[in-house]
Amino acid sequence: MLGLILGLTMIFAGVLPEESSFISQRQAMVKNQIEARGISDRATLQSISSVSRHLFVPGKLLDSAYDDRPLPIGYGQTISQPYIVAYMTEIINPGTDSRVLEIGTGSGYQAAVLAEIVKDVYTIEIISELGNSAAARLKDLGYKNVNVRISDGYYGWEEHSPFDAIIVTAASEYIPPPLIDQLKDGGRMVIPVGSPFMIQTLMLVEKKGDKIKTTSLMPVRFVPFRRSN
Ligand code: SAH
Repeated sequence: MLGLILGLTMIFAGVLPEESSFISQRQAMVKNQIEARGISDRATLQSISSVSRHLFVPGKLLDSAYDDRPLPIGYGQTISQPYIVAYMTEIINPGTDSRVLEIGTGSGYQAAVLAEIVKDVYTIEIISELGNSAAARLKDLGYKNVNVRISDGYYGWEEHSPFDAIIVTAASEYIPPPLIDQLKDGGRMVIPVGSPFMIQTLMLVEKKGDKIKTTSLMPVRFVPFRRSN
């Protein structure tokens, strides 16, 4: 009975129609933007299908949350395009036992997508306001395996290294050496490399013993990797 009353109240308050519209927008996003472009990793698709992207964008952009583009999240930063988030997730081969470092927490969306799949996510944000609100959002959503730190991600997170994978979500002129050091043998890093405000190259970095193999994946445009001074 209580459930019925609650259900009816939600319908009258417009909660249910809104939620179901987000669910169908998200299904369409996965089908048309992500699967259609070749993403096939089951865990990645399942995670992207289940994370409510609209809870990671500013309220005034709610209606654009599932659009095929990055969106502003304040402080001159952006939440990446859904396809790019899926691509970067798939390319690191995330496994249920993986420990992943992300540089550039931003809204926390990429961290949530990873947290659905892997064991532990460590994510670093240089802008304290963004890092703190992402940490609060991830906590509210119940993610217990995401650790957020406010600092310059150039130096990685040594105490928790080595990582199975590293995802960098801001464009750097070069690959920060501390991040290579903190990658496990056999680990994979994905990072946009290039000058700010220009087209950059998404690179895959694979560590095998003391050998580093880099592969250019595709042209991308990310916000600049900043440095604390
Ligand atoms: N992954 C984010 C996308 C954020 S955009 C998401 O899913 O929403 C990139 C983020 O990287 C910005 O928030 C920016 O402040 C942050 N950033 C830039 N340089 C950084 C650095 N050196 N260390 C940590 N974070 C950095």
